Amino acid sequence: MVLDSKIPSGPLAEKWTRHKATVKLVNPANKRKYDIIVVGTGLAGASAAATLAELGYNVKAFCFQDSPRRAHSIAAQGGINAAKNYKNDGDSVFRLFYDTIKGGDYRSREANVYRLAEVSVNIIDQCVAQGVPFAREYGGLLDNRSFGGAQVSRTFYAKGQTGQQLLLGAYGAMSRQIAAGKIEMHTRTEMLDLVVIDGRARGIITRNLITGKIEAHSAHAVLLCTGGYGNVFYLSTNAMGSNATAIWRAHKKGAFFGNPCFTQIHPTCIPVTGDHQSKLTLMSESLRNDGRVWVPKKAGDTRPPHEIPEEERDYFLERKYPSFGNLVPRDVASRNAKYVCDEGRGVGASKLAVYLDFEEAILREGKKVLSTTYNGEEGIRRFIHSNFPETVSNAEAYEKKLKELSRIEGEKVIDAKYGNLFQMYEKITNENPYKTPMRIYPAVHYTMGGLWVDYNLMTTIPGLYALGEANFSDHGANRLGASALMQGLADGYFIIPYTIGDYLATMPFDKVPTSHPAFKEAEENVKNQIKTLLSLKGDKTVDDYHKALGKIMWDYCGMSRNEKGLKYAQQKIQEIRAEFWQNLIVGGKNEELNQSLEKALRVADFLELGELMVIDALHRNESCGGHFREEYQTEDGEALRNDSEYAYVAAWEWTGKDKPPILHKEELNFENVKLTQRSYK
Ligand SMILES: Cc1cc2nc3c(=O)[nH]c(=O)nc-3n(C[C@H](O)[C@H](O)[C@H](O)COP(=O)(O)OP(=O)(O)OC[C@H]3O[C@@H](n4cnc5c(N)ncnc54)[C@H](O)[C@@H]3O)c2cc1C
Repeated sequence: MVLDSKIPSGPLAEKWTRHKATVKLVNPANKRKYDIIVVGTGLAGASAAATLAELGYNVKAFCFQDSPRRAHSIAAQGGINAAKNYKNDGDSVFRLFYDTIKGGDYRSREANVYRLAEVSVNIIDQCVAQGVPFAREYGGLLDNRSFGGAQVSRTFYAKGQTGQQLLLGAYGAMSRQIAAGKIEMHTRTEMLDLVVIDGRARGIITRNLITGKIEAHSAHAVLLCTGGYGNVFYLSTNAMGSNATAIWRAHKKGAFFGNPCFTQIHPTCIPVTGDHQSKLTLMSESLRNDGRVWVPKKAGDTRPPHEIPEEERDYFLERKYPSFGNLVPRDVASRNAKYVCDEGRGVGASKLAVYLDFEEAILREGKKVLSTTYNGEEGIRRFIHSNFPETVSNAEAYEKKLKELSRIEGEKVIDAKYGNLFQMYEKITNENPYKTPMRIYPAVHYTMGGLWVDYNLMTTIPGLYALGEANFSDHGANRLGASALMQGLADGYFIIPYTIGDYLATMPFDKVPTSHPAFKEAEENVKNQIKTLLSLKGDKTVDDYHKALGKIMWDYCGMSRNEKGLKYAQQKIQEIRAEFWQNLIVGGKNEELNQSLEKALRVADFLELGELMVIDALHRNESCGGHFREEYQTEDGEALRNDSEYAYVAAWEWTGKDKPPILHKEELNFENVKLTQRSYK
């Protein structure tokens, strides 16, 4: 099969406009004759479902949580990018496009990324119209901050709860359509298989998570908006329920899997403290706007942070990357944190952590407030002298008081920007980050890989689309911060509503009844798999296997990889998978709420996907973005790409159980950017 990305012709900046003007349309009276299944109601799914229903299509939406409001998107903290240039600091659609292509280490499609940058500006208007309470400046205009890999401020935010506010907006739009009868919402319902008839996606098989009932749903097209698969690593910042089942089962039905090994490791997460953890917590990248990352210069230094003088600290990101400093992209920041820990300079009990320090920002911001309140340096001096007479002729006492007052005001400023993140950190670690630096370490956060899609977001199965984190995405080998929310909402609000019409316009109106043999066969397969899992009478739980898989993935297919380790990982995963199907114990029955069964179904898929990730990492003999192969690095430890051989998307085809997958390549052509060694120095 030849992969056709369906990139429209014409100049980069005109492709999307021309495409929209030339795609086929479904007339308004005919839209109500088409049924569309939307699996997943996070930001990508909720925005798509609401918009398609508003257009007049009949939408059936599914999620496994008890409400769309609980999708993993709710956890997104720091913000969403858009090329609005409100700060007048030189931003533009082209610059956002360029930063994203470069950030992804030149492993994404130019046309898609340009379109993403182009529609980013519409997303903000759409969300503001919905009432999303983005942070505003004193004068009432929308505020922006910076994220990694950019030298402009283009990130819109709602404190540290941007995902929550955006999701409430999309959920509101969706609820309106549910009330209007245009969306049939199925919560606590998990898709377990895709139904393909005559080569087209025509429906899904689901399990009701409360009753265990297996059901079939038919439609004219199916959208998978089911999020990322970072939980293959067991420990990640993802919501506990995030899983790969929907996309993996679609992969087994013919949808190619793009760049499965491209995983994003986020540099600022609360470090692992032991074996007992089931989840890791992100500290948003936005904190690197104000927090400074450092470790002691000396290896094995066990002094508490405040006892380490300035000259004995190594602000290693600022030292190595003076242009971007603490705001280098995530892959670069993560790798450098690993390097300093490998050198024995890590901090905290595990020594696998670095400091993220707000002291300077608190004092700087506090002083700014004092300066505004009391009219500059002289005004502050007058205020302090008249209220604290002991400081009048005592310079040391004056400085101390100035610091004390600055701290009080500065903490308020930091609280306004990041309050909930600081509170979360303190609750988890029992340390007050206003007083002592946070300890952070990289953790798995996002998967750039996913189902391969063309420019229309269609997978290799006609009628099956993938949106949001579930597709192989526009982020190449490394996603820049604040761009996942942008991509999910671009896909749902602005892209699929156009591109799906082009497909449906060619489809007959007839509905396929769920009595069709293809539905019956898929239903039987699902029931048999459940029966097999419940019949196993071994002595290890699903979590035992999930943890074992996660450890292998992290150790050998995590922040850095090498050929020997990857080959070992592949063999270990096969062993764990074989043992899983022999020695698992699930307990309970199907016809009830059975979370062990839910997990077993998901982990069975992770055990297959994990191997594909390793195969993908093994075949890519280069380093790029989040994929760091130790054999391919520059003298100073930066990723060494091989553009002549690997400037392609690796799209893998499933060939059957325990059979090697087939690699298909989508060559990436760069006409508008020059491929260079990524430098943030
Ligand atoms: C802690 C954290 C903070 C983040 N902060 C930011 C940020 O500040 N900015 C940014 O741009 N990005 C951020 N991200 C990334 C971003 O949140 C996600 O990439 C994005 O929200 C994914 O949205 P989605 O709609 O694709 O998937 P999700 O929100 O994961 O939604 C998936 C949906 O699919 C459903 N589903 C899954 N499988 C099935 C199935 N088999 N059957 C039925 N339903 C199913 C789920 O129920 C859910 O409704 C953050 C991520 C994390 C973990």
